[in-house]
Amino acid sequence: MSGFNFDVITLFPKAFELINNLGVITKALDKNLIDVNLHDLREYGEGSYRQVDDKPYGGGAGMVLKPEPIYKAYESIRKSPKSKTLLMTPQGKVLKQKDLARWSTLDQIIIICGQYEGFDERIRCLADEEISIGDYVLSGGEIPAISIINGLTRLLPGTLGDPDSLVDESHNSSLLEYPQYTRPLTFKDMKVPDILVSGNHEEIKSWRRRKSFERTLERRSDLISNENYKKSPQSKRIIKENNQFMKFRIGNGYDIHRLVEDRDLIIGGVKLHHPENLGLDGHSDADVLSHSIMDALLGALSLGDIGKYFPPSDEKWKNADSLFLLSKVIDLIRQDGWEINNIDSVLVAERPKIMPHIKLMKKNISEILNIDENLIGIKATTNEKLGPEGREEGISCHSVVLLEKK
Ligand code: SAH
Repeated sequence: MSGFNFDVITLFPKAFELINNLGVITKALDKNLIDVNLHDLREYGEGSYRQVDDKPYGGGAGMVLKPEPIYKAYESIRKSPKSKTLLMTPQGKVLKQKDLARWSTLDQIIIICGQYEGFDERIRCLADEEISIGDYVLSGGEIPAISIINGLTRLLPGTLGDPDSLVDESHNSSLLEYPQYTRPLTFKDMKVPDILVSGNHEEIKSWRRRKSFERTLERRSDLISNENYKKSPQSKRIIKENNQFMKFRIGNGYDIHRLVEDRDLIIGGVKLHHPENLGLDGHSDADVLSHSIMDALLGALSLGDIGKYFPPSDEKWKNADSLFLLSKVIDLIRQDGWEINNIDSVLVAERPKIMPHIKLMKKNISEILNIDENLIGIKATTNEKLGPEGREEGISCHSVVLLEKK
């Protein structure tokens, strides 16, 4: 065997004619850097019709590839010690650049292509790895196989004109590549960034690193999340400057109001009855639950607290319905492109009993925020007669919200 061998078991060998017209891959074939050996499944079919497929046991649509022809074809292939067998299936592990790099140190890849509704389950044990090229379903494994042949071949020494072009490109370092330009300098009023024609190689390098990072944050932040990039001071600065790409923000809110006579006791828009006829004192209706949720929402986006938006000095908010204020706050959050992921609140009150009213509180809050009740947690606790809540001087509430960028 010379060079790298691809052995492909397929019902449609003609599909592979494409690789004879595929630039780098065609050149690699011409230079004997790779060999693509096609094993026509039909030749291993059974009976005079060379049958390769059959109806599935148990019924169902379509045809399934039979195991015998695939086994026969597989057994006919001479295997090198540095060989791996890949089964093309949408149920496999999604192909990554690092897989291609890993396989490029072998000298043979055997690829089994499915067709129709797939293959008999007993084929699976032939494969070292089951590979999918993405979360979608094609009609056969030929295009996935060509993708693997293509992606792997360009990594082999001697295939690409300039080996340096492999160094920076997307997915190699799990970052996407920086923007590339070639002549002309200005095209349809779009100008090449000055830095690239400055001749300052150090600055160009740093610009490219920065763009590569920003682009990955913008388009595929999932590629960065598990990596060490976040740790370098330069990356930290870029992440900070790109806070707008953050997907989640968390907020924390706290409120306490004094229990007094001659006031209503309203929590989460529900009017409660205190055994001593006490109510919560405040400029608005003093609904601690709604207030702490508002503060958490505003806090999540670093927008300050409710005092900033509904100042007690403003007569407009005297005895205001806090659920109405909450509707104003959520408008602000949504205008900024954020949505509530979930809310969790704890009420701290010695009396009255909060539990029987929680269902209605959740309903009120979910209606005002226009979110599902399941996304709202409301719990209640006493303060074991300790502190201001325990001495029934007041009732307090803590809330946490998680916002997600839409
Ligand atoms: N019914 C099968 C899919 C059959 S598609 C299932 O749900 O699993 C027919 C064949 O096309 C598959 O056997 C496989 O070889 C190939 N194929 C289709 N989509 C693919 C993908 N995303 N990645 C790799 N192979 C795929």
